[in-house]
Amino acid sequence: MAVPKKKTSPSRRGMRRSHHALTSSAHHECANCGELKRPHHVCSHCGYYDGREVVAADRLKPAVRL
Ligand SMILES: [Zn+2]
Repeated sequence: MAVPKKKTSPSRRGMRRSHHALTSSAHHECANCGELKRPHHVCSHCGYYDGREVVAADRLKPAVRL
């Protein structure tokens, strides 16, 4: 089994973990129904995109959590 030669210092560990932060997902209010939706995606609540109904509302899956 490969074994590290040296113990990772707190500084090295911190440098590695500096990229681990999570970012919040982007969201906007739907212009049609006001629900939060992902930008540049069909609204998962009303099925509208760019001012027109793209997917019939009764065919939509349950809303995706943001
Ligand atoms: Zn909507």
